[in-house]
Amino acid sequence: MKPVTARGAPMTVQILPIDIPDYGFFEALGSAVEAELPLRCKTARPIPISADAYDSKRGQYHAEALLRRSVDAWRDLSAHPTHDDPSELMIAVVDEDLYADDLNFVFGLAAPRLQACIVALARLHAQSSLRAPNPERFFDRVVKEAVHELGHLLGLPHCPSSNCVMRFSNTLTHTDRKSRSLCTRCRRRLEKL
Ligand SMILES: [Zn+2]
Ligand SMILES: [Zn+2]
Repeated sequence: MKPVTARGAPMTVQILPIDIPDYGFFEALGSAVEAELPLRCKTARPIPISADAYDSKRGQYHAEALLRRSVDAWRDLSAHPTHDDPSELMIAVVDEDLYADDLNFVFGLAAPRLQACIVALARLHAQSSLRAPNPERFFDRVVKEAVHELGHLLGLPHCPSSNCVMRFSNTLTHTDRKSRSLCTRCRRRLEKL
C-alpha cells in the first residue's frame, strides 16, 4: 500500500490520548492500526481535555473544536510550533461523547485540513444488557473507528461494501458487523492515491 513519505518511509501517526493515562492500551491500538494501514504509530503523552470545547447544554464535546484544541496543545507541549510535516498524521482519543454540527453524536471525525482525526470511546463501551462487559469487543470497536478515521485522512471516502472498515457506521451493530480491514477496492484505491 502506498502512503509513504518522499524518502520512502511509512507515514507516521501520533496517537494523542486526551486524559487517558493508559500507555499499554495505546501501544496495542497502534499495533492494531499498523496491521491494517501502511502507517507507523507513536503514542504521545496524554494531554488534558480542553473545557472550551464542552457544550454544557448538550453534555457533549464539539468534535472538531476539541480536535483543534488538542492538536494545538500537543504542538505546545512537544515543541512542534507548526504541524507542517506532511508525512505526519494525528489521532486524538478521548473517553467522552462528541457531536458535530449536523449530527447528534459521532464515534469519530476526520479533519483533513488539520491532518488529524479524533475517536470518541464513550459510546463504544455499550453492551447489550444481558451480556457481561467484553473488553475484546470494546477494543475491536476502537480499532475499527481508528482505522476508519485514518482511512479518511489518507483520502478514502465511505465504502458501500458491508465488511469494509470504510463503511459508514452510526450504530454499534454496524460497527460490530464490519471488519477492521479495507476491502480489496479500497486497498487498490489507497495504492493509487
Ligand atoms: Zn467516515
Ligand atoms: Zn471498501
